[in-house]
Amino acid sequence: MKEKANEGEFRKKLTPEQYSVCRLGDTEPAFSGKYYKHKEKGMYVCVACGSNLFSSGTKFESGTGWPSFYDVATKGNVKTGDDYGFGVHRIEVKCVKCGSHLGHVFDDGPKPTGKRYCINSAALDFKPNIERH
Ligand SMILES: [Zn+2]
Repeated sequence: MKEKANEGEFRKKLTPEQYSVCRLGDTEPAFSGKYYKHKEKGMYVCVACGSNLFSSGTKFESGTGWPSFYDVATKGNVKTGDDYGFGVHRIEVKCVKCGSHLGHVFDDGPKPTGKRYCINSAALDFKPNIERH
């Protein structure tokens, strides 16, 4: 498959781990990422393009070993789509701006949304003290 024009830039900008998650759709091992226990107030942004994705205000302790959020920070910055990888139907979560894979969303989250956005730390960067853009 031919790489998109900007794939080379992602390869330069991202670490190998970030690249494999964001651009190849891999999942980091549970409890391995730097943000699953992270409790500071701020904005989680896309590591590849800086787009605002998830606010610390919607982060919750899911016990899964991945950063978990019950809502997105800015509607329109995150898109979802069907993922049939590994023979299992899941809903994939992607960054709208750069198309990076972020994680998956499940329907077993807390109120008010009932959603659990299960996101790889490797797909995120953190900006303290910004909860809304
Ligand atoms: Zn992005």
